[in-house]
Amino acid sequence: MSRKLLLNNVHVEGIHTYDVYRKSGGYAAVEKALKSMTPEEVVEEVKKSGLRGRGGAGFPTGMKWSFIAKPEGVPRHFLCNADESEPGTFKDRYLMEKIPHLLIEGMILSSFALGCEQSYIYIRGEYMYVLRILEKAIAEAYQNGWLGKNIKGSGFNLELSVSPGAGAYICGEETAMIESLEGKRGNPRMKPPFPAIQGLWQRPTVVNNVETICAVVPIVNEGGEAYAGVGIGRSAGTKLISASGNINKPGVYEIEMGITVEEFIYGDQYCGGIKNGKKLKACVPGGSSVPILPHYLVCKTAEGTDRLMSYESLSEGGFATGSMLGSGGFIVYDEDQCIVRNTWNFARFYHHESCGQCSPCREGTGWMEKVLHRLEYGHGKIEDIDLLWDIQRKIEGNTICPLGDAAAWPVAAAIRHFREEFEWHVKEPNTCMTRNYGLVTEKVFDKVNA
Ligand code: SF4
Repeated sequence: MSRKLLLNNVHVEGIHTYDVYRKSGGYAAVEKALKSMTPEEVVEEVKKSGLRGRGGAGFPTGMKWSFIAKPEGVPRHFLCNADESEPGTFKDRYLMEKIPHLLIEGMILSSFALGCEQSYIYIRGEYMYVLRILEKAIAEAYQNGWLGKNIKGSGFNLELSVSPGAGAYICGEETAMIESLEGKRGNPRMKPPFPAIQGLWQRPTVVNNVETICAVVPIVNEGGEAYAGVGIGRSAGTKLISASGNINKPGVYEIEMGITVEEFIYGDQYCGGIKNGKKLKACVPGGSSVPILPHYLVCKTAEGTDRLMSYESLSEGGFATGSMLGSGGFIVYDEDQCIVRNTWNFARFYHHESCGQCSPCREGTGWMEKVLHRLEYGHGKIEDIDLLWDIQRKIEGNTICPLGDAAAWPVAAAIRHFREEFEWHVKEPNTCMTRNYGLVTEKVFDKVNA
């Protein structure tokens, strides 16, 4: 059983309340930091821990923090990205709903480390009931002197509030989130300048994901080195994985980085195997935007070594034979699932969520959705498969923000690994909704579109 650093108290009754959280050791990290550490020392511990952003990109958190500009007399801001909207990803919701004070404690520590006195939690509008939970917890933190002026006599001031979005996935992109917080349409900004130089209200700003911020609490409590000792290599610590699809036990799991994918899928303490005794067909290991893996590349790499739940192992082989840890949205498909339908569904999502600023994304996501729709519904042509490949190539790397890439990668990977299934949809159009395609036994990835 791997160690738990975030969810260790999740089953303590009443842990969402201040009293129970405090009795379970809550706010000890803030006490420690405010009494005996400088902001620079907190940043140093986070650097030592090797913590990487848990929202998807995996950028080293301590390094991101060190980029923040510190011009004299200009306020800085710390923002929590709680706009969790990637299909298949629901682990931040679990954290905020079950242990809201853990996030608040992480917000205080991070704001202290960065010298920010006005911080915000930006939460997706669909999580309105979680917003209410957070608002209540923030009020409790104010009442008990953990927020506001001169926190516990330390001289550190922090105002914290939570702001809802209005249902746009793109507001999970940090500059779109900043625009939205400023009261504008959530369109991503051109970078540079990066938010660390000109972010909210043109002031230096750092944006971190919910899980990343929560991880700062055990790092300060136990020290950066202790955190770095958990996990494997450059994938330090634990990771929350939201597991869904055709598995026996869907849910949110905290894993120690480095366990095998096989253990995660088939282990009783995690997903508990494929539902109804079916065979594994494919897996999307990191949310809808990462490449899908066919069954023979899920538990093993192309080299035949065990695939591990880590940034490095899941991406081993690049996009030809690997994928990404991403946001930890782990979707499992059994042998009965239709890859074309799944790819169409993802494309539909990205087309709907494109903000429309750049034409490769605005037009390309629309075309991919249309072509995939006609393939799925039996009106496709064999040339459509190459057309899809061509469209996704023209989107990737040619857009303002990563949504374009996020839309292109699932299409590319589906064609790379499941081209035969796309061809079946053209050759056997009337069976595409009902036919059991079975396992793709031939390794098509090295034959097509290399
Ligand atoms: Fe908007 Fe898409 Fe361009 Fe991002 S890539 S800025 S979502 S049009």
